[in-house]
Amino acid sequence: MQKLSDFYQSVFDCKTYKISLDAGCTCPNRDGTKGVGGCIFCSQNGSGDFAAGRSLPITQQVENAKELVLSKIRGRTGERRGKYIAYFQNFTSTYGDPQQLLGKYHEALSCKDVAGLAVATRPDCLNSQILSGLADISKNHFVQIELGLQTSNEQTGRFINRCYTNEDYIDAVARIHEAAPKIHIVTHLIFGLPSETEEDILNSVRFVVSVSLSGLTRQSSFGIKITSLYILKDTPLAAMYEAGKYQPLTKEAYFSLLQKALPLLPPNCIVHRLTGDPPKSLLIAPAWTTDKKRIINALRGLLLQS
Ligand code: SF4
Repeated sequence: MQKLSDFYQSVFDCKTYKISLDAGCTCPNRDGTKGVGGCIFCSQNGSGDFAAGRSLPITQQVENAKELVLSKIRGRTGERRGKYIAYFQNFTSTYGDPQQLLGKYHEALSCKDVAGLAVATRPDCLNSQILSGLADISKNHFVQIELGLQTSNEQTGRFINRCYTNEDYIDAVARIHEAAPKIHIVTHLIFGLPSETEEDILNSVRFVVSVSLSGLTRQSSFGIKITSLYILKDTPLAAMYEAGKYQPLTKEAYFSLLQKALPLLPPNCIVHRLTGDPPKSLLIAPAWTTDKKRIINALRGLLLQS
């Protein structure tokens, strides 16, 4: 297991900031192609609650997002300017006209100090045109594809209405490895999904590790993002919570799961995230997820033990 900051430092040789952008996509799980209503936890903004306005041109979104980063780090001792990774985060950022989407990725990469590209998507939304366009980009730039998986338990997958299967995920990882071994794949998992046991959760971690390692060269790495499920307003999960049919993990339960999950990660696994960042204005529960400072300090302790 490797720290994200060390990984990005080794790739870019400088401090790196991820900036959230919106390619204007929707999701096949919302527009009726695969499903309607989305995953039961997904907010109306499609997991990109921090991205700059979707109606703005990409160049403008990049400038706004860079300004936001600079306003946060300005005056902080030890912080310095660096490079940016353009992160297309909202909904399914490979779902749409391939030419238009590739144009947006290139536009972001042409902006000053943008050194890499990250694209969040679903495993069933990587058609050959998009994938070959991303493979071409990866010849000259760092490219990261983030795949939602959330769980390897198919029953839970159906319950949360994700509308894709483990096979879709296995296929997507294999196709990315084949198209461009340099592309860094990051898989998203959620702990605390309804009805999941500790064994389900640890099995999901084992599954991601085993699929990610298959086809990787020995020097290559893969990434993982883990978060505890949180409940946002106006989602089916919120209705379940209000009806007393779902309780989120406590901080202690989440940390205890992480303590068991982290030792399952091999040395070439980059841990991109272990905490969610729910928008406070939409968050219903659990409240502990907003206490970022304390969580990050506690996570540091966990990472040192693993
Ligand atoms: S696949 Fe992603 S964007 Fe689509 S509904 Fe599920 S969480 Fe939201």
